Amino acid sequence: MKTIGLIGGMSWESTASYYKIINETIKEILGGLHSAKILLYSVDFYEIEKCQAEGNWEKSAEILGNIAIKLEKAGADFIVICTNTMHKVADNIQQKINIPIIHIATATAEELIKNNIKKVALLGTKYTMTQDFYKEKLIKAGIDVIIPDNDDIEVVNNIIYNELCLGIINKKSKEIYINIIDNLCKKGAQGVILGCTEIGLLVDNNDLNIPVFDTTYIHAKKASFLAIK
Ligand code: GLU
Repeated sequence: MKTIGLIGGMSWESTASYYKIINETIKEILGGLHSAKILLYSVDFYEIEKCQAEGNWEKSAEILGNIAIKLEKAGADFIVICTNTMHKVADNIQQKINIPIIHIATATAEELIKNNIKKVALLGTKYTMTQDFYKEKLIKAGIDVIIPDNDDIEVVNNIIYNELCLGIINKKSKEIYINIIDNLCKKGAQGVILGCTEIGLLVDNNDLNIPVFDTTYIHAKKASFLAIK
C-alpha cells in the first residue's frame, strides 16, 4: 500500500472528513483490520487565511511547499492538498517535489465526465468561484461552469469562513445554499460542485434534486484508490 501525504488543516473540519473517508474506503476494499497509511501535516489555518486575505499567494505557496517537501522526505508517495482554494498554488508546490500532487479539480472533472455533466454550478470560496486556476481545469475538460451572482458569491464565501471552517453548521445557511443552487439550476446547471471541502458538512445529496459532486469525497476516494493501485 502506498503512503498518502495529506496537507490538511484548511480547515481541520474538512481534514477530519478526508481522514475518515480514506480509512473507511481502504477498510471497505481490503477488509479486516486494514487502514490507510497516511502522513498528515495539519497547518495553522490562521496563517494561511492571512496570506489569502493579503493576496500573498507566494508566501502561502512557500509554507505549503515546505510542508510537501517534509512529507516527501518522510515517505509519502503522493500529495493530497485538502482544500480547493489552495490549489491556486498547486503548480508552485509541485515544482518543489518529485512526487505527484493529486489535483482536486482534475479528480472532480473526471467525475463530471463520467456522469455526462456538460454544465455545472460551482460553489466555493470567492477565490475558487471567481478566479481561473480552478475553473480552467473544468473548462479544459469541456465543462461549462456557472457561478452565483456577485452578492451570492459574498454570501457563500462568508458562510465558509465565518461558519463552516469554525465548525458552525447553521440551518438558515443551509437554506441559503440550497436556494442559491436552485437558482443556478434554473440557469441550466445539471449538477453542482461542492467546490470547498467544508460545504459537504452543510449540504449533501439528500438536500438537492440534482447530482452533487462533493470535492472532499471525490478527492479522498481518488487518494484511497491510488494508494492500493
Ligand atoms: N477548505 C476550503 C476550500 O476547499 C476553504 C478554505 C481555504 O481557503 O483553503 O477551498
